[in-house]
Amino acid sequence: MNQLVRPPNVTIATSACPHDCPSTCALEVEVLDGRSIGRVRGAEDNLYTAGVICAKVARYAERIHHPDRLLHPLIRTGPKGSGQFAPISWDDALDLTAEKLIAAEARHGSEAVWPYYYAGTMGLIMRDGINRLRHAKKYTGFHSTICVNPAWTGFIAGTGKLAGPDPREMARSDLVVIWGTNPVNTQVNVMTHAIRARKERGAKIVAIDIYQNGTMQQADLAVLVRPGTDGALACAVMHCLFRDGFADREYLEKYTDAPRELEEHVRTRSPEWAARITGCPVETIEAFARLVAENKRTYFRLGYGFGRSRNGTTNMHAASCIAAVRGSWALEGGGAFHNNGAIYHWNKTITEGLDAVDPSIRTLDQSRIGPILVGEPDALANGVPVTALFIQNTNPVSVAPEQDKVKRGFARDDLFVCVHEQFMTETALMADVVLPATMFMEHDDLYQGGGHQYIQLGLKLIDPPGECWSNHDVVCALAKRLGAEHPGFHMTPRELIDRLLGDSGWGTLADLEAKKWIDAQPDFDTAHYTKGFAWPDGKFRFKPDWKTVPFRSPWLAGPVDDMPALPDHWEVIEEATEEFPFRLGTSPARNFLNSTFNETPTSIAREKRPTVMIHPEDAAAHGIADGDKVVLGNVRGEVRIHAKIFDGVRRGVLIAESIWPNKAYEDGKGINTLTGADAIAPYGGAAFHDNRVWVRKAALS
Ligand code: SF4
Repeated sequence: MNQLVRPPNVTIATSACPHDCPSTCALEVEVLDGRSIGRVRGAEDNLYTAGVICAKVARYAERIHHPDRLLHPLIRTGPKGSGQFAPISWDDALDLTAEKLIAAEARHGSEAVWPYYYAGTMGLIMRDGINRLRHAKKYTGFHSTICVNPAWTGFIAGTGKLAGPDPREMARSDLVVIWGTNPVNTQVNVMTHAIRARKERGAKIVAIDIYQNGTMQQADLAVLVRPGTDGALACAVMHCLFRDGFADREYLEKYTDAPRELEEHVRTRSPEWAARITGCPVETIEAFARLVAENKRTYFRLGYGFGRSRNGTTNMHAASCIAAVRGSWALEGGGAFHNNGAIYHWNKTITEGLDAVDPSIRTLDQSRIGPILVGEPDALANGVPVTALFIQNTNPVSVAPEQDKVKRGFARDDLFVCVHEQFMTETALMADVVLPATMFMEHDDLYQGGGHQYIQLGLKLIDPPGECWSNHDVVCALAKRLGAEHPGFHMTPRELIDRLLGDSGWGTLADLEAKKWIDAQPDFDTAHYTKGFAWPDGKFRFKPDWKTVPFRSPWLAGPVDDMPALPDHWEVIEEATEEFPFRLGTSPARNFLNSTFNETPTSIAREKRPTVMIHPEDAAAHGIADGDKVVLGNVRGEVRIHAKIFDGVRRGVLIAESIWPNKAYEDGKGINTLTGADAIAPYGGAAFHDNRVWVRKAALS
């Protein structure tokens, strides 16, 4: 731990933000004594974080010292979901959990047990260790889909690899395009570097989104589109670049696969065509295209948001294609960036137990936990029912799509659920056994930046409260009771970090402790693909073979055969109809991060209550006034929520910032009641911003 002692009795310690946000900010934490923290700040000497973090993590003391933290193991004593629990010892809780998992395995085989987790912590030790238990025990596999698959696949489809120009280069751009992400809320560092470019170079900032969020308000040009229409916008920009002579033909010939086909294809994708689809005026599309034309040094910072549509993969790919048409990749401060996942070359054999993988064991789709738990045969891969869940770092009873099915599934009497959590989340409330979990400053872990290029340490700074255990400790204790064998179960987190670093070519834990972080940024030529893109022929793909895009878990899903060959607007979204005339997006709220932080008083006070934004003319047409209670509905259910009249959405579009717990809604039905669990092509994903709904003013109760 790298520490600098400051009076009076405050130690400043280094850490890293573990939350599900690409910024993975380098932190400086005031440690007040062995058990508590004060203010949290961004590390000034980390060149990406550059001293800036979001407000919700700056006030982390409110979360880590929250009076509602789970402190002791609990066993359910009343009906499921009743909230009736009694304390139980750790030994008894783990014995019972192991007994139930063994019983489930004895009845239906090992695939009846489903270890389920996600990104409540992004630490490579605490998040991923559950996979070691899964592999060692041959439990059902976990196809991780809920967040990244469409966006990652769409980006990789062009470049061949999930990596791009150094994110710090945004500060050296002439134009920064922030597309489908709202860094004013989360991953705040994007704004740091973009605003630096504006101040130091006179760069312009373009923001593209489905509502006038904080980032759009700070942009020089805000491009407001309907949800799921980004591919049309991208095609129109490419149309203008070819039309006006700003396509870099030399670059296209040397570095891309089908430039002439693309040019011919986008000839009909005019701004007028795109305006009809996106709802964005022709003048705005032309203005955006002109900025890209005039500024070859354009940095496209492509976010996750626009991947969360049924055509999200093709939208991401289309956006990344603009940088290839303009030849922006060749310049410092130019190109397209989404995530740096491919630069770290981790060998996770020890942490995830990859040497114990049995490929014959089925894998189930994380996003389809609702259909899986209610026993839909296709969701279960026509296999045995899931009768036991062991859950860490995720809260599907708030965040998973098709909530009605999720809740019905969790209520099953024949389903055993153990949840290891920090708070009594809505998922923990449905559990049979609840185990108290540490937070990131209470255990040792290792992190990688998705939105940057640092490997960072977050070592234990304070003792955990009560009887909280780390994920690693729980996984190892269960492994012992279950007879699961793997060397990783006999190592400490520090030993695992050291081994993971060493196996992956990043040195030792001691080195990293001395340096605080590792700058893993590849050299310019690699990051900008100047010697060719990461395909055998070195060519950027305008025409990807969607079924063979290299991805961590190639699992074909969704209407893969219908995917467009070239960048386009793919009409696979839940388009509005007469019966369902609105398109609903469920964008992230500023003070929450998924369902994390929706337990802290300041976040709740600032977010106030669940609301849905509606255009003033749509509101008037439906007799809805600001603050009215309205009902949103579709084939998946109904949600009661308060209306917020807002002219920063297109007509026919509704935005409900989330994720509030279900219990924050009048009848306990949260916004994910309306979202679908059907898979996004080609490798799965949940279309959180792609829902057609009707809206009406709620009857007075
Ligand atoms: S911006 Fe993201 S990574 Fe940085 S502190 Fe906030 S949540 Fe954590």
